[in-house]
Amino acid sequence: MSTFKAPKGTYDLIPPDSATYLAVREAIAAPLRDSGYGYIETPGFESVELFARGVGESTDIVTKEMYAFETKGGDKLALRPEGTASVLRAALEANLHKLGNLPVKLWYSGSYYRYERPQKGRYRHFSQVGAEAIGAEDPALDAELIILADQAYRSLGLRDFRILLNSLGDKECRPVYRAALQDFLRGLDLDEETLRRADINPLRVLDDKRDDVQKQLVGAPLLRDYLCDACKAYHEEVRELITAAGVSFEDDAKLVRGLDYYTRTTFEFVHDGLGSQSAVGGGGRYDGLSEMIGGPALPSVGWALGVDRTVLALEAEGVALDLPASTSVFAVPLGEEARRVLFGVVTELRRNGVAADFSYGAKGLKGAMKNANRSGARYTVVAGERDLAEGVVQLKDMESGEQVAVGVNEIVAELESRLS
Ligand code: AMP
Repeated sequence: MSTFKAPKGTYDLIPPDSATYLAVREAIAAPLRDSGYGYIETPGFESVELFARGVGESTDIVTKEMYAFETKGGDKLALRPEGTASVLRAALEANLHKLGNLPVKLWYSGSYYRYERPQKGRYRHFSQVGAEAIGAEDPALDAELIILADQAYRSLGLRDFRILLNSLGDKECRPVYRAALQDFLRGLDLDEETLRRADINPLRVLDDKRDDVQKQLVGAPLLRDYLCDACKAYHEEVRELITAAGVSFEDDAKLVRGLDYYTRTTFEFVHDGLGSQSAVGGGGRYDGLSEMIGGPALPSVGWALGVDRTVLALEAEGVALDLPASTSVFAVPLGEEARRVLFGVVTELRRNGVAADFSYGAKGLKGAMKNANRSGARYTVVAGERDLAEGVVQLKDMESGEQVAVGVNEIVAELESRLS
């Protein structure tokens, strides 16, 4: 072991478990790619100001959890704590919204950073796969994203997750509700910090996890009862479209999320096997965000699914992904000439698209066969001096244990035909 360890709140992805992470990312991305979402990648850091404005000046993410720093050149930057603000910034910067093809549909996959108190399922470095549909106000778009997330989780074999759905209203009805909620909160017995929050961002008090606060919130006014007709109709259509798709969800009138930019449709995916960090993903509509970061009005909707927690959810449900072995053929040379010949065979196999690996380092037959077994390869090719003198190599089927001699010049074709 070296003197260094992964920083607090982080962990390394190493084989074989890392293969599960890759498969989860791929499973989430596949339905997006099939639905018109194009891949976008943005820098790991952005101007602090983008997140302050985009995520919200009063959110925990911005006030407590951001890795912010000043560069030697004097730029104030932050490691990205979430994806939406960056993706929207990039889309606006590239004028994607002006190409006459709205909505702009984008998906991304990457690392995010939050200075949080680490615990199981909550890390300081984590990964998300996300999707954003920018520049269209259409309940079918909100429904599409929820349905695609459901499809992704199901394709992985997850079953014990639930979809919580709510509407946060818009700039017509939310202010009226906000004032009513503030009135209610002022009459409660709350600590100073929570009272301050009630002043700045009262909806987020509904999200307070403490029991004594939740008890007092029982009679709180609900946004549901304040939605304007347009928001009500919009939400009803989202619900109908999801229901028609056979995706079940629960109405959660108290669902608000830790980011300020959400409007109307808001949803969260929770998994019941995860304990306190039960949210595996979340998202919603953010019609005002573009203007908040200096762009034109661009109603948009998106989500981000956490890769780390999705992997934990798979473990909690005891789902083992069916991951094919990465190596199909393993070559074991015995002696110098065999090394040259089999290294050539391996190179040719790889060039022909067959996943092949080789026993490196001078190893005896026993050690080399151990490596062959570990590789998960379906076939092993073994050759010694005597085989080569006869112009053959030994082809061993690792499943049946059967072994046959195959001509050196035929082995590549033979393997290709067996593996096809
Ligand atoms: P949020 O942007 O907070 O809505 O997060 C979206 C998803 O990212 C969550 O549902 C989690 O699955 C994941 N996530 C957020 N923060 C963390 C974290 N600190 N550690 C691990 N996963 C996280």
